[in-house]
This record gives sequence, C-alpha cells and structure tokens, in this order.
Amino acid sequence: MSQTDSRTTPFDTLLVANRGEIACRVMRTARAMGLRTVAVYSDADANARHVREADEAVRLGPAAARESYLKVEAVVEAAKRTGAGAIHPGYGFLSENGAFVQALDAAGITFVGPPASAIAAMGDKSAAKARMANAGVPLVPGYHGDDQDDALLKAEADKIGYPVLLKASAGGGGKGMRVVEAPEQFQAALDGCRRESQAAFGDTRMLIEKYLTQPRHVEVQVFCDSHGNGVYLFERDCSVQRRHQKVLEEAPAPGMTAELRREMGEAAVRAAKEIGYVGAGTVEFLLDKDGSFYFMEMNTRLQVEHPVTEMITGQDLVEWQLRVAMGEALPLQQEELTITGHSFEARLYAEDPEQDFLPATGRLERFAMDLKGAGLDPRQVRLDSGVETGDVVSMHYDPMLAKLIVHGDDRDQALSTLNRALAALDVQGVVTNRAFLQRLATHPAFRNAELDTRFIEKNEATLF
Ligand code: ADP
Repeated sequence: MSQTDSRTTPFDTLLVANRGEIACRVMRTARAMGLRTVAVYSDADANARHVREADEAVRLGPAAARESYLKVEAVVEAAKRTGAGAIHPGYGFLSENGAFVQALDAAGITFVGPPASAIAAMGDKSAAKARMANAGVPLVPGYHGDDQDDALLKAEADKIGYPVLLKASAGGGGKGMRVVEAPEQFQAALDGCRRESQAAFGDTRMLIEKYLTQPRHVEVQVFCDSHGNGVYLFERDCSVQRRHQKVLEEAPAPGMTAELRREMGEAAVRAAKEIGYVGAGTVEFLLDKDGSFYFMEMNTRLQVEHPVTEMITGQDLVEWQLRVAMGEALPLQQEELTITGHSFEARLYAEDPEQDFLPATGRLERFAMDLKGAGLDPRQVRLDSGVETGDVVSMHYDPMLAKLIVHGDDRDQALSTLNRALAALDVQGVVTNRAFLQRLATHPAFRNAELDTRFIEKNEATLF
C-alpha cells in the first residue's frame, strides 16, 4: 500500500485552508456531517463570513496571500494547534501544491485531496501528456518531447500544420501560450513564449499543439477512492470564457450523445487511474465540432463550478471528498449515477465590465436575493457566496463574490430560472458584472447553445 495512515484515519475536526465562498461551502457540508470546523484568515479577513461561520478561527498573517493563505508552515501550525485531523484546501491557494501535501503527510494530517505524486504527475504539461498517451487518453495532435532544439520544434510545427499553439510546459493560467498562424511567424512566437515562460515559471520548455479553431471546453468530473474505485459524474460545458476565465458553466453539456458521454467519462477515469488519483478531480477536454475530443489537462482539486454537477446528480461532492479522505469507499457506483435536468452557474464578480473588467472594491451596502418576490423555487436556486450585507470587498484576493446556481427540468427552463434569479439579485455598494451576465444569459446564440471557447469574443458587438 502506498497510502500513509494519515490518509485513512477518521477525523472529527476539519480545517479549511481557504476563504470566500468555497470556505463557507465546504464548512456547510462539514457541519452537516457533524465535524468541527476551523477557519484560517488573513488580517484583511479577520471579520469575514467564513471566519464568522467557523467553530474556531486562526489568524495566519497579513493580507498578502503569500504571507497568509499561501504560507504552508502557518497553515500546518494552525491545524496542530486546533487539533484538526484534516485540511480541505478548497481551490486556488495551496490546493495543488505538492510541497504542502508532503508537509501534511509528514505532520500526520489528512489532506482532503489527491496524493502529492498525482499532483506532480499533472503539474507539468509535457510529462502529463506522455502519461495520458500511455493510458489511451486522446491528445490534440502535437509535440511534447524533451528535445527543445529550435529547428526541431519548427519542423514539428510544420508537420502538425498551422495554425499551431505554442504552450509552456510549466504553464498555467493562460500564460506562456501563443497561436502561430503561419511558418514565418514561428521563430518570433517561440522566442516570445520562452521569454514569458522563463519570467513566469523559470522554465523554457515548450510543447506544440494543433490549434483547434472552434473547440468547446468540456470537462469531466471524476472521483476515485483509496480502494481502487473510480467513477465519472458526467460533464460540464465551460466554453463561455473571458481571457481563459470561465464566466458561465452548465451541466450536462448540450448536444452530447450517450455514447460520447460514456467515451469521455471512461477516458477521464482512465486518466485519473493512470496517475493513482484519489478524491475529486476534473479532466478537461477540448471538444471539436466533429465530435473528437482531446485531453487538455487535469485539475487535481474541487473546481469552482462543481455545483452544476451536484445539481444534476443530486450528490454533495464535498461530502464525497470528506468520506474518501476518511478512507471510505465511493458512495455510489457508475451505474447508480444518473443525470436529472439541467443546471447553470453564473460567476458574480466585483468588477466593472464598462472599465475593461477592472476589479471593484467597497462596502456591500446590500447583498441579497429575494426568491419569494421573484416567484422562484428555493430548491431550484442556490447562491454560494462568501459575503453578506455590510462586508467589505478588498483588492487583495480574487474578485469573485458569489456563484448563482440554478436547476431546471431542461436547458430552456434552467436558463429562464437563471435569468429571473439574476434579476432578483440585489447588490449595492460594489460594482459587479451582473448586467454582463444578464446579457450573456439572454443572448440568442447562448440560448441556442452555439458554444465555443471564443463565444464572448465572437459576440462582442452584442454583449457590450
Ligand atoms: P492553462 O493551463 O494556462 O489554463 P490550458 O492548456 O488549460 O492552459 O489552455 C487554456 C485554454 O486555451 C483552454 O481552455 C482553451 O480555451 C484554449 N486551448 C488550449 N489548447 C488549445 C488548442 N490546442 N486549440 C485551441 N484552443 C486551445
């Protein structure tokens, strides 16, 4: 067994190493499971909602994330001090930090997530692609070799055929990525990408992929336990993105056939098993117009958009995570999982679409949603937020205030509920992207599910 004891020891106290809506959301399930909750916070968050809702809270340090939420020793120390047997990392911050997981292993604290080795296997894009090819997971035609000679890379790009996409092996967050339209642009793009990658990641290795011109971003939710079981909880379509940042997500993905769903689901589970995965993970694919799908990357954590999967499956993914971390087997087998209806998630950001989406700050004079007044069924609308009326939105962290999640019998019904719920949101004191979300959600092309990753760019004229 490669599992250490701390991975399968039951625990009664959970520390949540995060802030905002995800910290609140994780603690909600932890409380329902009878666990004691510990929050951590920076000086900017001393009175934040996640701190108010926890049974106990520990200060980590000053506002800057690297001096608080990203500080491994401070988080481990907080867990020891409060007797927390396990740590849930949420998303972002330390959630995909292998050194953090190793520190927890050494301290005998359970990490609610995969082993450090699985995080490492997916952390490097080139190495991950080689592993995936091995597991029979389809890859975008491309080159992900070790030889990084200029002439060889150029020859590979010529072979793949233009346009190609240059990507930093160590990349993330859309950095170190460039589309090359024609052979004569290759060298300049390569030089530029290497410079960017060196500056951002201290690494110049590149991989090259065929650039798909109108792909959809379709990702599969997978779950594995420490007993060798793995299932997929279907897919999410996250094609509506602005600068690679997801804005609207939905499940299931429109237009999927049962056969494609099974193929993608099974490929995702193979990907997870190939790297000895445990816990919740997401395998991201590009879906081409002809129905071909290609592995893009695996996110080794709970995703922001996990609630749309919860809405269509009726499962609580955080509960699954905590049970798996306690050493239990997965609650359900593949055949027992089904899709009911349709779900959307809209991300409400404190940002100003009129000013190039500049992050906004201030005091929330009002933050509420009147479901009753709007004639909405509370079972069909969920608002996951990390703030309440009176809270101050600072400039220190991600500007996402809340996620509005809806469910309906079918896509049209869910979309109509989304629009009514967006209208029922009452946010005052801080500028948000709500009007932009409303324009997206009422857009005819979106209603018709004409989705691809350039949706916003293509419909700019009618969205702004
Ligand atoms: P990062 O890790 O920096 O986010 P990804 O490899 O996940 O980089 O790619 C980010 C986004 O770039 C994807 O969501 C997709 O929209 C686009 N993309 C990635 N690879 C391709 C490709 N081969 N063809 C077209 N678009 C792509």
